[in-house]
Amino acid sequence: MLAWSEGPEANDLHPRGIRGAVADALHGHADVRTACLVDPEQGVDLRGVDVLAWWGHAHHADLDDARAEQIANAVRGGMGLLVLHSGHHSKPFRALLNASGNLGGWREAAEVERLWIVNSTHPIAAGLPNPIEIPHEEMYAEPFDVPPPDDLVFVSWFAGGEIFRSGAGWRRGAGKIFYFRPGHEAYPTLHHEHVRHVLQNAARWCAPEAP
Ligand code: ZN
Repeated sequence: MLAWSEGPEANDLHPRGIRGAVADALHGHADVRTACLVDPEQGVDLRGVDVLAWWGHAHHADLDDARAEQIANAVRGGMGLLVLHSGHHSKPFRALLNASGNLGGWREAAEVERLWIVNSTHPIAAGLPNPIEIPHEEMYAEPFDVPPPDDLVFVSWFAGGEIFRSGAGWRRGAGKIFYFRPGHEAYPTLHHEHVRHVLQNAARWCAPEAP
């Protein structure tokens, strides 16, 4: 598995960047290496990668179009793609879904988010409480400009009353894509026990199925 984040985004909460926090969340569950935009090939070395986790926020446009296409093709060929939080605007996600990924709105106010499981039999919901409560998160609002998900697992409620399709899966070619909304860089979301459990379940679900 490869955990990619644009970088540097290191802060007290994520001393090795978001990619390091994602790798920590999957420690013991998957073999994870990390990469970022300033690495050779913009960190997009997909050799041997079964699942690619992707987080970016300010530098989506800096990813070369050819790299985005390389990722999209790898997904169509069977690689899993786990898109986190502000990755909704990343080039690979938009290309694969043929959609803008635009939000109805957002607000950075450290408010409560409740992730309600709307498909309790889905493998990504296994072993999780309902709802998962995150004490401080950034709010994202519907409408989320994506095609109707093939798999909808979580819908979020925010303290301001908004809702959002926070855990959604799509299949493209032989590959699976899962979008998971939480993961704002200013809050300790990626240290949250149940968020880590979602990432572990999602990495397993996204991985290529045995032939
Ligand atoms: Zn954010």
